[in-house]
Amino acid sequence: DVTCRRSRRRMKALNWFHAISGPVLGPDPRVHRHTLLVLASLPTYLASLGMIWHLVHLNELATPAAWGLTFASIVTFLAFWLPVRTGLTQCMKDPVLTFPHAVATLCLCVAAYVMLDEHRVNVLVMMAQVIVVAMLRLRPKQVLGLGVVATLMLCGAFAWVDWRDTSVGMLTKGVTHLMVGGASLLLLSLVGKWVSDIRTEISEQAKELRKTVLTVRQMATLDQLTGLLNRRVMLEGLEAERQLAERHGTQWCVALIDLDHFKQVNDRHGHPTGDAVLKGFADLARQHLRAVDQVGRWGGEEFLVLFPQTRLNEAHASLERLRKALNAWRSPDHPTLQMSFSAGLVQAEPEDTIDQVVERADKTMYQAKASGRNRSVWAPVLTPSLFGNPVPPPAFPA
Ligand code: GH3
Ligand code: MG
Ligand code: MG
Repeated sequence: DVTCRRSRRRMKALNWFHAISGPVLGPDPRVHRHTLLVLASLPTYLASLGMIWHLVHLNELATPAAWGLTFASIVTFLAFWLPVRTGLTQCMKDPVLTFPHAVATLCLCVAAYVMLDEHRVNVLVMMAQVIVVAMLRLRPKQVLGLGVVATLMLCGAFAWVDWRDTSVGMLTKGVTHLMVGGASLLLLSLVGKWVSDIRTEISEQAKELRKTVLTVRQMATLDQLTGLLNRRVMLEGLEAERQLAERHGTQWCVALIDLDHFKQVNDRHGHPTGDAVLKGFADLARQHLRAVDQVGRWGGEEFLVLFPQTRLNEAHASLERLRKALNAWRSPDHPTLQMSFSAGLVQAEPEDTIDQVVERADKTMYQAKASGRNRSVWAPVLTPSLFGNPVPPPAFPA
């Protein structure tokens, strides 16, 4: 009962979370992720506003100035959150609008710098925060550019404050701010550029690595010419199916397919035509076998099909469908060329090893060759089934 109540409470909390996060972040996962990145700037906004209203409380800042800064902050935040949240920026190079957002917040910082008199040193920290947050997304040159923009803005603010109040004390403090702040911001942007350089390099290396892993995985699992599974993967599939059948007592079948007179195709039309026939057969196998059936190139012009949880007569029907499709298939370069295959189909017996199943399929395939080719022959089932064993098909193709 307690667990039930707890899970109900968790469900309720989750519902609340979705009710709030849905409208704020948006339904699309990409928009959702980008909006979250805009929201990452919210703590900086809140900290700045907290500082401003604390100064009002201490009578260090006039209320109209605080309202002005608050209003400007809210408008700036909404101006960046809304287009990102609505997905308007999705077609842009940076859908999070990091650079313009950073410049806009730096402008807010400069306005605060001018208004805060005694407490303007805090603004330098805020400007540094803006650069630190932005450098996690910007390209190296943009980070450096942002640092230069921040320093120039600081110079402008200093000139403005100096022009407004020419008392010596003011000028001295302003010069200190300018030197310490400007140097810190430039240094920070240099570090930011360095971090951004490393980030770009790592992300390029990761992209390269993903591509290489994909190629290696394809090379390790697929046959290069036909794109079908290779022998190693087929063996793994066979073993997995054997274990599954052993556990659940299900039936499964294996067929070994060998293209008829394939050597003649090479001899008469050349090796490239032979390759095209192999590829053509692979395409037909993908089209005419079920998605759950695994087909692989066993070697040369031999293919192995694994029919998981399938009875012999169902597997035979699939093979016949494929055989007829191959008979009807025509090579674009040699339309007179007609292909066929001989297949040996077996149902795995409960005590069978993989080698035994494949060996019986191979023997059955040779029976198909011996009895005239262009046919699928199945081997009689040795273990009697509760529902009766399937009756072997006629010796010659229909
Ligand atoms: P059967 O009807 O008895 O199976 O006769 P067959 O000519 O198909 O059989 P055989 O084993 O004599 O010939 C198989 C040929 O397949 C020999 C080999 O050169 C060719 N072969 C194997 N791999 C490839 C390949 O990747 N591309 C091409 N073009 N030919 C291949
Ligand atoms: Mg062969
Ligand atoms: Mg052959």
